[in-house]
Formats: sequence, structure tokens, C-alpha cells
Amino acid sequence: MSQRKVLECDVLIVGGGPAGLSVAGALPEDVSAIVIHQDKEIGKPVRTSGGSWLSDMQRLNIPQSLFQIIDTLDIFSDNQKTHLSFQEDRPVVLDVTGLYQWLGTKAEDRGVQIFCDTKFQTTQKTDDGRFETEVRSKAGGIEKVVSKYIVDASGVHCAVLRSLSLGPKPVRYGVGIEYEYALGANDPHRAVLFVGTDALSGYGWVFPTPDNRLRIGVGIIHPDTDLSPREMLEGFLKSSALKRYGMTVEGLVLQKNGGTIPSIPYDPKLVYGQVIRVGDSANFATPIVGEGIRICIEFGDLLGRKLGKSLLTGSSKHLLDYEAACQRAMARNYRVGVSANKRISSYGVADWDKSVARLDRLNERDVVALLKAEFSAKLVLRTLLGLLRSRTEKCLKRLGGHRQS
Ligand SMILES: Cc1cc2nc3c(=O)[nH]c(=O)nc-3n(C[C@H](O)[C@H](O)[C@H](O)COP(=O)(O)OP(=O)(O)OC[C@H]3O[C@@H](n4cnc5c(N)ncnc54)[C@H](O)[C@@H]3O)c2cc1C
Repeated sequence: MSQRKVLECDVLIVGGGPAGLSVAGALPEDVSAIVIHQDKEIGKPVRTSGGSWLSDMQRLNIPQSLFQIIDTLDIFSDNQKTHLSFQEDRPVVLDVTGLYQWLGTKAEDRGVQIFCDTKFQTTQKTDDGRFETEVRSKAGGIEKVVSKYIVDASGVHCAVLRSLSLGPKPVRYGVGIEYEYALGANDPHRAVLFVGTDALSGYGWVFPTPDNRLRIGVGIIHPDTDLSPREMLEGFLKSSALKRYGMTVEGLVLQKNGGTIPSIPYDPKLVYGQVIRVGDSANFATPIVGEGIRICIEFGDLLGRKLGKSLLTGSSKHLLDYEAACQRAMARNYRVGVSANKRISSYGVADWDKSVARLDRLNERDVVALLKAEFSAKLVLRTLLGLLRSRTEKCLKRLGGHRQS
């Protein structure tokens, strides 16, 4: 009879996306850790469009070869357009596979073992307070991992939480499809976002990538709509919309990407004793545009450092510090963002036209803050005042019209 292959470690991380790999890369070298990842390789297949921000990439020390800097962004609705020529912070488009592999190498350099093609099945707490986790490895490797801590970094799957009945899979989620083409004659530093008919209940994007490709995608919210993002994207590609946006598509599709992201209110509980969640399994992506990578890296890194301290001191205080830091950074902004997200997911063409016209009246800093879901009291007030001003102007115009007639 063959012996079951059992490994032991301090920390088992389930999921080798940006969150799990960042936790792994920040653990002290004397902490033993294992990452199990169900895909055959780190960073493939791609499940994200990889938009982010230059200031964040610099702050997180991400090498410049792993992103493309965007100088101008145009946002289109059916009948309106706003143009942003960035003077301060700049958007970037990430080499997603390259970035995740870079994070994986950093973790391995610290001595973390990464097992690809290895899927988390179930886990249970044993009498000695550790976790016994059953895994299925297609490559015929490990079968069981015994660990003191488990990190759920499995993204929208919430695999560990569900196994321990600590939480369900999200019921409301964004689903996106994206095709990659050769960049061709398109500007390598210009991106487009589009809303309205071409991406009702969501939005679409056209991003140039660091490897001279053009990523064109559509993301929508289920179950708010039961439309298929693939059908929407294919309809969009057959339409003349790209021409209107000043872009072209050449040749065949080089790669198809697709993914799912939770779109539910932020829940501040992240620590359940020795089980901790991070990344999409903790709903870290922003509620307006669903941008999660930089947040997963920043707070994954924080969790890795705090876990190291917890193991060293035996105190859970450090993990609660992580939970509190995430709450400070996300809870309030995401509350505002989720209510905006619910409203805009039912927008029709006219609502989107009005919103894009409103965006056109905001300054660059405010548009960036809205896209990043950073709602300072000043921004909320300025947006409300702008709304009030435009409504008052319309009423006055209407009254003037009545008087003349
Ligand atoms: C269509 C789309 C577009 C997006 N665009 C952007 C964007 O432009 N910018 C941005 O910043 N963010 C974007 N996001 C969000 C971003 O991709 C996520 O926030 C981020 O990937 C979350 O990272 P994570 O590590 O938590 O989870 P994931 O990236 O999902 O990684 C988790 C990994 O765990 C693995 N896994 C799951 N279950 C198991 C299991 N049982 N056993 C072992 N492994 C398992 C999965 O295969 C997966 O690879 C987008 C998301 C989608 C869906």
C-alpha cells in the first residue's frame, strides 16, 4: 500500500493569486509555509484586466517592466465622452502573469514551497489545535497538509471558509470576459472605458498591455443581469464602437481571459482564530471598478508580517491589527462604493450619459479618487454640490422657458 504524503508547516496558504503570494512573500524566513494552487502555473490563465495605478506600483516596489503607463483615458457613454490627460498619478496596465510570477519567486526566495496543480479539498481542526487539510494533487504530490494557521486566499471561491462553514460563496458577483489582440496601430499609452449600451449593468475597457497587446473586455454584475458578457463582448467587437473610440482591432484573438469577482458589502471580520482570509475571499476589490490587485498585494504583505509576529509571540493581537488596518482602509469607502455600485448596475443609456457628463465637470484628482473608490468627505460633498448645481441650472432654464412662452 502506498504511503500518503503528509507535509507539516506553520502556515498553509490556499490560492496562489496576488493575495496569497504576497502573504507568502512577507512571512519571516523562519516560518515554514506552503502555498497550494489549483492551476497548473502561477499567473495563468489570466482572470483579470490588470488596471492599476503608478503611485501604488511604485509604493509597492513593483518593477517598471511589469506595467504599461497610461497617459490618457477616454470614458465613453452612448452620447457623451470625457477625456483625461493625467498630470499627477497615472493608470497602469499590468503584465498580470509576469507580476504574479514575480510575487511567486519572491515567496520561494524566502523558502516558501509552492505546489501548483494542487487543490484544497477540506480541512478540520484536530485535538492538538492544528488543521489537517486534504488536498488533491494532479501531479501525484502531497495529499495532506498539517498546519497551525490557514490563510484563505482562494479568491471568489472562499474554499477554506466554506469548508469550515465560516462563510458562503458570494451571491452577487462581477463576471468579466476579455480578448487580447496585437496592439497594431493603437496608441500604447491610451486606454478607454465604456458604459451604456455596450456594457449595460457594468462597464467595458480597452487597455494596451506591456507586451504590445490590446485587452478588450466587458464586465457585468450577476444576478443583477442575466446577460452573457461573452455575447456582449462579441456584439461590441462586431459593432462600429471601437472606431468611434478611435481604436482598431487587427488579426485574430491571441488570448481569451475571463474571471469572477465578489460584489457584496465589505465584511470587516477577517480573522477566525487561526483561519484568516485575504484578497477576494475577503472582498478586497474596490466596489466601483472591481480593482483588487494592488490592495491584495498591500494587505497580503501586511498579513504575512503580522502572521510572523503572531507565531513568534503566540499572541493573536497582531492578526487583529491586520483586521483593523483593513477595516480602516476599506469599510467606509466600500460602504459608499457598494451603494453607488448597486445604483449604477441598473442604469440605462440616459443615466450613463448624465454620469459621464458629470464626470467631465470633475477635476482629474476627483475622477481618480472615484475610480479608486476613495471617497473623502470633501469629494462626496463636491459631487453632491455639482449635482445640485446642475439640477438647479436645469430648473431655472425650464422656468425661463415657461415664462417666455
Ligand atoms: C474580469 C475581471 C477584471 C478585473 N480587472 C481588474 C483590474 O483591472 N485591476 C485590478 O486591480 N483588479 C481587477 N480585478 C480584480 C482582481 O483580479 C482580484 O481582486 C484579484 O485577482 C484577487 O486576488 P486574490 O489573490 O484574492 O484571488 P485570485 O486572483 O482569484 O487568486 C486565487 C487563486 O486561488 C486558486 N484557488 C481557488 N480555489 C482553490 C482551491 N480549492 N485550491 C487551490 N487553489 C485554489 C484560484 O485558481 C486562483 O488562481 C478584476 C477581476 C475580474 C474578474
